[in-house]
Amino acid sequence: MKTAKTIVVLLLLFAGAAHAQTSSRTNGGAATTATTGATPDARMNSFITSLMSKMTLDEKIGQLNLPAAGDITTGQAGNSNIGAKIEEGKVGGLFNIKSVAKIREVQRIAVEKSRLKIPLIFGMDVIHGYETVFPIPLGLSSSWDMGEIERSARIAATEASADGICWTFSPMVDISRDPRWGRVAEGSGEDPYLGSQIAKAMVRGYQRDLSGNSDIMACVKHYALYGAAEAGRDYNTTDMSPVRMFNEYLPPYKAAVDAGVGSVMASFNDVNGIPATANKWLMTDILRKHWGFKGFVVTDYTGIMELTPHGLGDFQTVSALAMNAGIDMDMVSEGFLKTLPKSLQEGKVSLPEINQACRRILEAKYKLGLFADPYKYCNEQRAATEVFTAANRQEARKIAADCFVLLKNQDNVLPLKKGGTIALVGPLADAANNMTGTWSVAANFSQSVSVLDGLKEALGNGGKVLYSLGANLDADSLFEERATMFGKSLQRDHRPASEILQEALNTASQADVIVAALGESAEMSGESSSRTNIEIPQTQQDLLKALLKTGKPVVLVLFTGRPLAIKWENDEVPAILNVWFGGTEAGHAIADVLFGDVNPSGKLTMTWPQNVGQVPLYYNHMNTGRPLEGPWFQKFRSNYLDVSNDPVYPFGYGLSYSHFTYSDLKVSSTSLKGAQTLHATVTVTNDGPRTGKEVVQLYIRDLVGSITRPVKELKGFRKIELDAGQSRQVTFDITPEDLKFYNSDLKYDWESGDFMIMVGGNSRDVLSQKITWNK
Ligand code: BGC
Repeated sequence: MKTAKTIVVLLLLFAGAAHAQTSSRTNGGAATTATTGATPDARMNSFITSLMSKMTLDEKIGQLNLPAAGDITTGQAGNSNIGAKIEEGKVGGLFNIKSVAKIREVQRIAVEKSRLKIPLIFGMDVIHGYETVFPIPLGLSSSWDMGEIERSARIAATEASADGICWTFSPMVDISRDPRWGRVAEGSGEDPYLGSQIAKAMVRGYQRDLSGNSDIMACVKHYALYGAAEAGRDYNTTDMSPVRMFNEYLPPYKAAVDAGVGSVMASFNDVNGIPATANKWLMTDILRKHWGFKGFVVTDYTGIMELTPHGLGDFQTVSALAMNAGIDMDMVSEGFLKTLPKSLQEGKVSLPEINQACRRILEAKYKLGLFADPYKYCNEQRAATEVFTAANRQEARKIAADCFVLLKNQDNVLPLKKGGTIALVGPLADAANNMTGTWSVAANFSQSVSVLDGLKEALGNGGKVLYSLGANLDADSLFEERATMFGKSLQRDHRPASEILQEALNTASQADVIVAALGESAEMSGESSSRTNIEIPQTQQDLLKALLKTGKPVVLVLFTGRPLAIKWENDEVPAILNVWFGGTEAGHAIADVLFGDVNPSGKLTMTWPQNVGQVPLYYNHMNTGRPLEGPWFQKFRSNYLDVSNDPVYPFGYGLSYSHFTYSDLKVSSTSLKGAQTLHATVTVTNDGPRTGKEVVQLYIRDLVGSITRPVKELKGFRKIELDAGQSRQVTFDITPEDLKFYNSDLKYDWESGDFMIMVGGNSRDVLSQKITWNK
């Protein structure tokens, strides 16, 4: 914990002194770190010091250069003269190159043809799986199962490493409260506590201790505050109070650092006027000095080049700013490569800075074991046997089913009986190539399981599935094109909408139940996929309305990468199962849940608003001076004229085919002092018809503070399984550590006073108990 004085200094830096951009790196003198090599760290330092003593300035700068191989679908051009550059020592690593054969070949150039034979590091966006794809991260977070999340990262690491990759640009931990922002699909939602647990689980899953050849280096991103982009428009400005930053947005990045993440990616956005890529306060003062981060920092794609349109100066100037801020590796811009020698001559950057950055890259390679064996990750045998295995797919199926969120199930429409006839309609019903969702660059889309295939396989000869498109994704074909890029185009029917619809109604008339697979396509969320309208596209809503009019039971299987505004659907459709983008095994997992072979247990990690006008809408908001409850005249409260403040589904919400009741919340004491532990115990009963899993959630409200405090903050959770009729007591141990927050001096501490302890199955429906806790 920092003293108040230190924090005030941080605040001052924050307030403007950071603009000075003077070098803070003094530890770059390689000669000072040589030792006899007693400990592993000392051995590493000595090795790197010796290596660096042989390196020219250009070779050092070369290590800071990270070009894109352009091999796989990020929409960027390939890199033709890469071999020559590697030979000249102008490349530190490459990313998005796929296959052992290709990686072995470029690594061979580095270690056989370059002067100092320094191996390359190979990165990739292995975001939610490699070839075996798991649900999108927002979906994964909805499992609230840290074991499963860690396992998904471990399998991703095993597959990626078997295929030559040793570094992944994951986890993405940007907190976001704005479902307009398409990249909410890639993160873990709106909560800093849950986001921090997930950040740690993923770093553990990828890296373990980096010793084995299936352990890969993680890269936490996008540091920082990328998820708070104004108006939810991608790459947009972020402006935020330090208190909010430290309490609500920074914790997951810090959690990843505490878990030992090897690298950090700078975000595209500016933060209170200074783009992250040039932000010394973020990259050096907070990340290194305050949090003690020891790994290396890489920019995001063309992050340095983008400082020019941000308005910080020409290429020469901005590259020096990035170096001065504390960036070690330059992704794609080649700003370091092309400008640092001149900036060094002019005194705009210093040699210790360049040395320090180079040392950090070399350390990462050393820790990955690449100096010992540059082909550690190049094993054709592993590539042939460890990627996209039946066992990995089985795990992906199980995990996907645990991520789905049952939003509504009136009259127990679900689970469906296996038998009879199902009409399966909608643009996402027979769309295997959309199942993996956004950022699944290593996947082979056609090998994913569609809903149609999943249902057919589950039914076997015991029932019938009739398929009909029913509606195009969207009426606007141009919109659809952009929303289905990168090999994810959907079947588009060019007949009039009424004809397509009529065909689906004919199909529905022959069925006992209708399953409508609707919502977003895979690329309607993700990078640069912001939306101002977060409803299901109109064509599909029209289809849904017509299906409801048939009077047959309708199940909405909802595909989405973000919270959608589905108030009308929630009012009218009897059953809604939110399946995100479930990955390779989506169709199987959807069938597992629809037919009740798996009882759904996912819970939302972002609030779902009634309409986009309520955004940002999040459970851990402040109370305001005019909350809804209070003596004020009805009109003059913090509310809207046209809709209530309520979401459609609150944070933490999700149903089961069973039902859980909470009772008897007890606390071990209502009056505590100092460093005691409070035990809060609740009884959870499964009073539904079958075994099920429930996420028991602990929230705390700090009722009086020196600054305004949220009405609720998640402080713990437990995912438990109960048989039908079974009850269990769940106890949370709470210490003053759980009450701490950053005050207006950015001092991290707790304050004496009253607290509300709340436990429930979502953030809205809780049992409460007030306590007093004094220092
Ligand atoms: C994204 C990053 C990604 C990088 C490399 C960027 O466009 O913002 O999340 O890791 O590309 O592919």
